[in-house]
Amino acid sequence: MPTSSIGMTINGTRVGLDSKEIVEIPITTGLNGTAIKLVVHAIVGAEPGPVLCIINTIHGGEWYAIEPLRKIRETLSTSDMAGAVLIVPVVNPAAFALDIRNVPDQVDSPDMNRIFPGPLTSTGDQIIAALTNELISQSDALIDFHMGPKGAAFTDALAGSDFPGDLSARCLELALAFGSPIVRHSPMIGGFPGPKSSKPYAAAVLGIPGFGGEVGGAGFGPKLDQVWHGRTIRGIHGVLGSMGVIDVNNDHLPEKQLVYRSAHRINPRVGGILRPELSGFEMGSEVEKGQLLGTMISPYTGETLEELRAPANGLAYYVGREHPVYPGGWAFGLAEIDDDAHWVANGEAVH
Ligand SMILES: [Zn+2]
Repeated sequence: MPTSSIGMTINGTRVGLDSKEIVEIPITTGLNGTAIKLVVHAIVGAEPGPVLCIINTIHGGEWYAIEPLRKIRETLSTSDMAGAVLIVPVVNPAAFALDIRNVPDQVDSPDMNRIFPGPLTSTGDQIIAALTNELISQSDALIDFHMGPKGAAFTDALAGSDFPGDLSARCLELALAFGSPIVRHSPMIGGFPGPKSSKPYAAAVLGIPGFGGEVGGAGFGPKLDQVWHGRTIRGIHGVLGSMGVIDVNNDHLPEKQLVYRSAHRINPRVGGILRPELSGFEMGSEVEKGQLLGTMISPYTGETLEELRAPANGLAYYVGREHPVYPGGWAFGLAEIDDDAHWVANGEAVH
C-alpha cells in the first residue's frame, strides 16, 4: 500500500512525509520481566509512493545485515524518495541476545519463520502477528534478510515460483533487481521453506511480492565484510529503483545472473573441523561435479573423516570457512546449472 499525502501510520504512530522516525511496537512482557518490542525504522520520502519492508534477524543468529541496514538508514535521502522504506533490523531480539536461531521459550512455535501469521500467543507468534499486520501488510514489497551463522557465507536471493497470478514473476524481478549473482527461483509453498514463512505468506496470502536476501557471513574478515555490505546496500538501492522509490543507474548489476531451481547442501554427515578448499573470495564461483570442496577433520585424532565433493556442476552459493561443524551444519552449497537453470543479463534471458 503506497504512502499517502500525509505519510503513513505504524501502530497508531503517524510518520509524515520527508522524515525518518524510529517507531517502537510493544509486543509483550517476557518471563524475566523485560518488555519485548519491535523497533522499526521508517524512512518516508518527500513524495508518496510504494513501500519496501525490510526485515532482518528473524533467526536470532542471522544478524549479518544489521550494519548495512544501518548505513542504508543513514544515507537514504528522504527528499529524493517517492515512497518509503520500513526496516526492522532485529525481528527476534530474544534469540539474537543468545546468538541462537529460535526463541528460547519452550513453546510450540519456536521458529519464527515457520509460524506466519502468528496465530498463537507465544512471544514469537505475537511478534510475527505485529510484523504481519503493522508492517508487511501495508507494504508493496518485502526483503527478508538471513545469514550470518558463524562459519559460512552466502550469496543467494530466494524467490518463490509457485505463487498465484504474476506474483512469482514479480518476486523474481525484485530478486534480480537486487543484483544477486545467484537467484533461486523454486517452489516455496510446495517446497522450502513452506507456506508459513515470511515470503510465501506475504506473496500467497497478502499478495505482496518479495524475496529472501542472503549476502555474506560473519568472520571472513574486514575486506569481505566491506564487499558484502556494499552489495547489500547497492542491492537495496536497486530494488528501490525498480519500485520507482529512488532513481538508480543499475551499475550494481553483475554481468550475468544465474536463475536456478536445484539447490544442493553439501553439508557433512559427521561433526568435525571443516578444512575448506574454497575461500570466501571464491563464493559464487563455478565448481565441477566431483570437485573437492572441503574435508572434515577429527578435532580429536586429526584424521580425515569425510570429503565433501560437488554433486553436480554449478555455482557455490555458500562456502564455509575453517570452523567446527555439526553433522548437517553449514559447509558448502551448490546452485546446480542444469536444464532448469538459465542466465539473465540486464533483466533479459541469455544463453
Ligand atoms: Zn534464516
